[in-house]
Amino acid sequence: MDFTLSILGTASALPFSDRNPSAQALSVRGRLYLIDCGEGTQQRFRQMHLSFVKVNAIFLSHMHGDHVFGLFGMLSTMSLYHRLEPLKVFAPADFAPVLEFFLSSFGRDLSFEVEHVVLDMDEPREIYSDKCVRVSAFPLNHKLPCFGFRFEETGMGKKHEPRSYAYCSDTAPFPELSGWVKGVDVLYHEATYPVEYEAKARQYFHSTTLDAARCAADAGAGKLLIGHYSSRVRDMEIFQSECRTIFAESYAANDCDVIDFPVK
Ligand SMILES: [Zn+2]
Ligand SMILES: [Zn+2]
Repeated sequence: MDFTLSILGTASALPFSDRNPSAQALSVRGRLYLIDCGEGTQQRFRQMHLSFVKVNAIFLSHMHGDHVFGLFGMLSTMSLYHRLEPLKVFAPADFAPVLEFFLSSFGRDLSFEVEHVVLDMDEPREIYSDKCVRVSAFPLNHKLPCFGFRFEETGMGKKHEPRSYAYCSDTAPFPELSGWVKGVDVLYHEATYPVEYEAKARQYFHSTTLDAARCAADAGAGKLLIGHYSSRVRDMEIFQSECRTIFAESYAANDCDVIDFPVK
């Protein structure tokens, strides 16, 4: 009865030798839900022994390259594995021309259909459900239209409480967010900058460590996971330690981490 999160990328705009841009895969009872798809996602799939054929749906937060540059390769590979099932990609409206470019340039022989489901809500709304999960999306506060996702386990009967996960990247802090991710077992919240760079965070519509920690505390989350680290910062310890001054259960994610959600 797995409910497991694989971290495929924790860098922000610039990739490093050991950090890719944003991507995560949530595995629920053998099904994979891909969340963002930065460059290098395919290689991380290989390294982490994730299956391309088990991807049920893709959730893209926004159209900044560090969250989507890996998608074309991913779609092509799924086709090489002869996927036949249509694939839903949940993404903002500005994904439409990107998909159109891909399909017309490289996707003429794609073995499956890609269905773009447009995200345009201004408060949380259910966008997807199957036997394993229910997913809702909600707006974030970024330079471009950007959305967060909340995953709730379904179909486990009375065996245990439903497990839940919320993904919030990229965003500046705003008051409604903690209510929208209230009570999740694990909250991923970007923490691009340590507090020292607060002015940069405001300028680029990102969060600091303390913004992320405050959101987790206000939401009563079980754990806070942070990532999307700025390339300006060399001392990586500072991200987690700053968060812990506000929220003890804070963890700095690294590429290839696997986070297991224990049954309650
Ligand atoms: Zn980003
Ligand atoms: Zn962004």
